[in-house]
Amino acid sequence: MRRIVLEDYGKLAKQDHAEGIGEAKPGMVKIRVTACSVCGSDIALYRGKRALESEKYFGHEFTGVVTDAGDGANGIREGMRVATEVYRACGRCWYCRNGLPSYCKSMNDAFLPGGFAEETMVLNTEENSFITPIPDELDDVTASLLEPVNCSYQVALKAGITPGQKVAVIGMGSMGFITSRILQEIGAGLVVGIVNKPSRLEKVRQIGFMDAIDSSEENWKDQVREVFGEMGPDVVVELSGNLTAFQNALTIVRPGGRIVVGSVYTGYADNVELRPVMRKELTIVGAKGPYPNLNSDGTSASLDMLMKIREDLRKIVSVYSYEDGIRGFEDMMTGKVIKTVITF
Ligand SMILES: [Zn+2]
Ligand SMILES: [Zn+2]
Repeated sequence: MRRIVLEDYGKLAKQDHAEGIGEAKPGMVKIRVTACSVCGSDIALYRGKRALESEKYFGHEFTGVVTDAGDGANGIREGMRVATEVYRACGRCWYCRNGLPSYCKSMNDAFLPGGFAEETMVLNTEENSFITPIPDELDDVTASLLEPVNCSYQVALKAGITPGQKVAVIGMGSMGFITSRILQEIGAGLVVGIVNKPSRLEKVRQIGFMDAIDSSEENWKDQVREVFGEMGPDVVVELSGNLTAFQNALTIVRPGGRIVVGSVYTGYADNVELRPVMRKELTIVGAKGPYPNLNSDGTSASLDMLMKIREDLRKIVSVYSYEDGIRGFEDMMTGKVIKTVITF
């Protein structure tokens, strides 16, 4: 089979004749992958910001067809089109009982070898499952966004908005776009991105479902006041992982406002002025997706959300074939494209 592997930090390789994965292991199903999206965490791994030894899989945002349904848990059958997301957690462990089902079982056991390969296994038992069947009208490329929609949904829910509230989203990578679009859908009155370079501002405007402010412009705080009013946004969602951005969030959020941290900070915060936390009585919450996000009938609420916003989300995607896959990674890393999807 064909596969893109991360041989070492900073070193991707195509394997045209990689070894097949054999029969499905107990508790897993086999999938023929059709499209796999590149996640920020894949890029963090490439850049050495995550330890390669502890990662057993590469690529977790994918669509495919079930070729071996294993014991058929959760109604999964051969030939079904599916996409990945955390669909089921056990409901009994400490994490599940305490509202943290995303910690229920290590993601590391969920995919072997992961979605940047023509064939992979995916965990699917009654207790833990990482696949959701998808409808015919959803194409493979867009369906690979189910997992990032699931993660971003969690960030959007943590914003805890009431109808009409105004939200600033710092960091307009793929997660920034997806989270913003979900916030619009769940009732935000205004969602504006905050970027830190003119090229990204242009990109946000070109995609067209929202506007942004460029914090590299000298008067950007005036622009924030103009857009959000004198008090500032009700909620700031911080998705850049940049400590200056966290400082900016503390500065611009309104008194009594909320900051959602959905990004990974590396290193320590030496020069962050924390006084606003008390002075403005701020609420600061973390959001670490993905979470099983189900409707009362057990179907996926994240899939419903994706179906509603898919046309806008399709605009953030650039598709590369397997042959061009490595260029797809590079283009996303340099910011040339927002979200790379590799097709097999
Ligand atoms: Zn992801
Ligand atoms: Zn559990």
